[in-house]
Amino acid sequence: MRRKIIAGNWKMNLRFDEAKALASAIRDGESAYRHEVILCPSFPYLTSLAQVLAGSKISLGAQNCADRENGAFTGEVSASMLASVGIPYVIIGHSERRIYYHESHAVLKDKINIALANGLKPIFCCGETKEVRLSEQQANYVERQLEESLFHLSEDDILRVIIAYEPVWAIGTGLTATPEQAQEMHHFIRTRIAARYGRAIADQIIIQYGGSMKPDNAAELLSQPDVDGGLIGGASLKADDFKAIIAAV
Ligand code: PEP
Repeated sequence: MRRKIIAGNWKMNLRFDEAKALASAIRDGESAYRHEVILCPSFPYLTSLAQVLAGSKISLGAQNCADRENGAFTGEVSASMLASVGIPYVIIGHSERRIYYHESHAVLKDKINIALANGLKPIFCCGETKEVRLSEQQANYVERQLEESLFHLSEDDILRVIIAYEPVWAIGTGLTATPEQAQEMHHFIRTRIAARYGRAIADQIIIQYGGSMKPDNAAELLSQPDVDGGLIGGASLKADDFKAIIAAV
């Protein structure tokens, strides 16, 4: 049985006092959580929130890292910096990074390599745009994202990656993939992993769903056999909603 992992992507939201209050509220009641929980706040809050969460089972992740090791890259944050302050996870390839910051398959491949080389566990986002879904090309589109940025990895390394299937048309739009649509794509992704790495590895990889997951649709989505958790944006900014998603299954 794969474990489920629920991650909150706070994006570029919350002032510091609000972020601390949200992390504390999510920590409260964690003894009831049956799943692993990861919070992904903005870079400046990571080390302070590590103190808020010290001694708890809740982990922290960054929302991005640089595609270079270190050096003269003003404004960037490297994977080695994140590792040096004890951050275990990093989101790589979120659709907002792909769309607004033009991150290519090749750049994301470099980020994956550097994150893994520094001991971080990437949460690699993939998912099709609305145009691609309307032309029914979602499987080819997502397969290419996996092949170009992930499938060069060794067996040991792919096992350290979490995949988040996030249809772009469902992110922040209030539109959610139906449980059947989510299951179909998660099953497809697992089939492609099995074709590349074998069934035993494919069966271990965590594939989260992301895209307007909320307390009222979480149980159905998270009950699908190939849906191993969620990457939650908007609903992760409200402690009660995020906790309800964690408790949904
Ligand atoms: C996300 O940004 O990863 C996401 C899934 O956002 P939302 O839940 O708001 O659709």
